[in-house]
Amino acid sequence: MVIRVHSNIHRDRHSDARKLEFTQHPELNIPLYLCLVKTLISIEGLRKTYHVGSQDVHALDGLDLSIGQNEYVALMGPSGSGKSTLMNVLGCLDSPTAGTYHLNQQNVAQLEEDALAEIRNREIGFVFQTFNLLPRYTALENVALPLIYAGFSKEERLERAAEVLRTVGLADRMEHKPNELSGGQRQRVAVARALVNRPSIILADEPTGNLDTATSLEIMALFGEIQAAGNTVILVTHEEDIAAFAHRVIRLRDGKVESTSD
Ligand code: ADP
Ligand code: MG
Repeated sequence: MVIRVHSNIHRDRHSDARKLEFTQHPELNIPLYLCLVKTLISIEGLRKTYHVGSQDVHALDGLDLSIGQNEYVALMGPSGSGKSTLMNVLGCLDSPTAGTYHLNQQNVAQLEEDALAEIRNREIGFVFQTFNLLPRYTALENVALPLIYAGFSKEERLERAAEVLRTVGLADRMEHKPNELSGGQRQRVAVARALVNRPSIILADEPTGNLDTATSLEIMALFGEIQAAGNTVILVTHEEDIAAFAHRVIRLRDGKVESTSD
């Protein structure tokens, strides 16, 4: 028997967990279950203001958001609604002007750049619309690159990069440079690079924006596998077909959360 319980999720401010509470079936009067979903990301009153000339641009304007561990979330919203700004803050690439951002119970909103970089390298993998691969490097070298900062030997770096490239289906393309690969293969290399540090969160800003439909579906299948393996996946898209792969859709407007689906 499958019972939808999403509407009964509520946040417990004290334990910082989202609770699914069910002890009794409403009609059958039988005990059901009680389950805790651990909160990974908890954001309150987040603001990011840019000063442009004499004007203040409120890219994030008092945004509240909670994302559980191992969730698969699509962020949608019109151009300029703050999606990329939010992704940069979520990924510890940028600090908010005000508000709190708890990542794994730690408020990271006001950390210095060094501390942010450390969290970023350990916890987060990024995938971009434009792949952002280094053109002179092979797929293997591109994927191995983030491991330099993690202090692995060259041999270990290449071994781990090869392993991740195999898992994204590129065992036979490791020595190819980006211009010797198709768009979908380039994005697979970028996904492998995001995974190589074994982060818990994958952030993808319009990852299928430069891909044709068939290739987009392949990349989305890959994100599905990544989520099924235990990662939290947050992706920005403006395509409803792509957002449908996620388990929850959060819509932004004017720097705030406009709605969030079950
Ligand atoms: P989206 O990704 O949803 O299209 P962005 O997060 O890129 O939106 O931008 C949100 C708003 O903040 C926009 O009005 C944009 O012009 C502004 N903005 C973004 N980055 C900067 C910046 N570095 N300096 C000034 N304004 C910015
Ligand atoms: Mg954007």
